[in-house]
Amino acid sequence: MFKLLEAKGVPTDYVEELNDRETVLKKVEIVPLEVIIRNKAAGSFSKRFGVPEGTTLKCPTLEFCLKDDALGDPMINDSQIYAIGAATKEEIAKISEMAYKINDVMVEFFKSVNVDLIDFKIEFGRFHGEILLADEISPDTCRFWDMDTQEKLDKDRFRRDMGGVEDAYAEMMKRVGLN
Ligand code: UDP
Repeated sequence: MFKLLEAKGVPTDYVEELNDRETVLKKVEIVPLEVIIRNKAAGSFSKRFGVPEGTTLKCPTLEFCLKDDALGDPMINDSQIYAIGAATKEEIAKISEMAYKINDVMVEFFKSVNVDLIDFKIEFGRFHGEILLADEISPDTCRFWDMDTQEKLDKDRFRRDMGGVEDAYAEMMKRVGLN
C-alpha cells in the first residue's frame, strides 16, 4: 500500500522492504493522533450516531482521536488539537488533505480486487519538517468487506469472535497479490 501511495504522490516513511519481517523506514516523530476516514458507517460511528452498519455515507468523514491508551484514545477536534499542542494548524491541514487523497487511492485499489473499503485508521509522522504517512495499513487497521457478499475480511472477525480470522487475512493477502 505504501509503495502504491508513494507512486500516487503521497509521501510515506517507507524506504525498502528487506524481507518478510524487516522493512527500512524513515525515523519519524509520530503525530499523536489516530486519523480515521470512513466511507460506510460501522463500529463506533454506528454506535455513536445510531447509523446502521453498512450505511453508505453521503461523503467520506474524517475524525481524529488522541493517541493515549490510558485515556482510551478519546476523539478530539481541530481546535482541541491546537490547544493542547498535539499538532499545528498547518500540520492538520496537510494531514487532512493527505488522508482524503489516501482514501481516494485506497477505495479505487480495493474496488479493483472486489473489496469495499468501509473505514480505516492511519497515522502520520514528522520528518525534517515534512508530514509523512507512517505506521501501517492492514486488515488490523481497516474494515474490508467483500463487495458482493459484504463478508468481513478484517480484524472484526477476531474482535467479534466470528471465527475464520486466518482465512479472511489469507483471502486479503491473495486479493492484493501478496501470496
Ligand atoms: N482502528 C484502529 N485502531 C484503533 C481504533 C480504530 O486501527 O485503535 C480502525 C478500525 O479497525 C476501523 C476504523 O479504525 O477500521 C474505525 O474504528 P472505530 O472507530 O469504528 O472503532 P472500533 O469499532 O473498531 O472499535
